[in-house]
Amino acid sequence: MPQTAHFRLLNPSETRSCSASLTNSLYGVPVDILLHGELGTGKTTFLQGFAESLGVNQSLTSPTYALEQRYQTKLGEFIHIDLYRLTPEQSAELIQSTNDHEGIRCIEWAERLKSPPHDKRIELHFSEPEKDIRDLKVTWYDMTLPTDEQIQAWRQEAKLPQHIIDHCESVAAFAAELADKVLASKRVVRKEALKKAAQLHDLFRFIDFVLGGHPENINNTAEEEVTWATWKQRYAGLHHEAACTAFLQEQGFPELAEIVRTHGLRNSATVESTIEQQLLYYADKRVKNDQVVSLDERFEDFRERYGNKPQSQQWYDEVKQVEKALDL
Ligand code: ADP
Ligand code: MG
Repeated sequence: MPQTAHFRLLNPSETRSCSASLTNSLYGVPVDILLHGELGTGKTTFLQGFAESLGVNQSLTSPTYALEQRYQTKLGEFIHIDLYRLTPEQSAELIQSTNDHEGIRCIEWAERLKSPPHDKRIELHFSEPEKDIRDLKVTWYDMTLPTDEQIQAWRQEAKLPQHIIDHCESVAAFAAELADKVLASKRVVRKEALKKAAQLHDLFRFIDFVLGGHPENINNTAEEEVTWATWKQRYAGLHHEAACTAFLQEQGFPELAEIVRTHGLRNSATVESTIEQQLLYYADKRVKNDQVVSLDERFEDFRERYGNKPQSQQWYDEVKQVEKALDL
């Protein structure tokens, strides 16, 4: 099942700000964005906000007569195509001629195509339920996610202790709550991907276990120690975030790996990161064991367990910056 999100956009400016937020949830190019919907449902309006947030400073107009328009952006070439006036044959030809693009290709009137030209795509369906209101359904086909069974199996394979599993589940639940707030403010976020990334973020947490860092009354078993030693060997020289990233890449989930990569304090998400990276990083800093707490309480706990590191204040300030950017 592909991931989806729905938005009810009340005016053109909401459509533009929603599309601008899509820029913060992209995971690599080339990618196609296929726009479906009748005339006047807001496809071009959506692309205006999107192009602007990619740094295109020319005003984007519908390429109905020019067929295609190209812009340079920080994420590679942005191609804007409108198939409205083309026959299915002409449409297929135009698409064929741009199939080796290396950036973001946006196609209005994608219903003209028999099938999507590339698998890696985001589909947008627009409808107009009332005068100025537009309904938008986003469907992502550019990221595969592991099943719940896979996640369970990996946890068993790693002999991940129950208290870490509990922590991951609490971070996932809290991150999902935050994602709902983002969606309610009509900003794009991949809630399912975020939840799975949160469930997996500490899969190899034991790689960084230090003496005195455990909750009280928890002792590692000999069996755990043996299993962990083999994982540590496999990811020698890596901290747990990088190890999990490498593991998810090996397993064929490179985008999920990317979300997990920046959840720690050492290589943290910033205001430039994707919305899912920011939310996982932030949610993890708000969950102590399996309880949601304030940032101050969580950082106090870090200090108790690992000592007052010289970087503590900087790390705290970094989380605060992301919290502000998230604007929840
Ligand atoms: P399309 O590219 O799908 O044909 P356009 O974006 O060119 O559609 O046109 C949409 C028209 O509807 C514009 O005139 C826009 O001002 C108007 N409009 C009214 N409400 C909205 C809304 N909520 N979102 C987008 N456009 C809207
Ligand atoms: Mg249009």
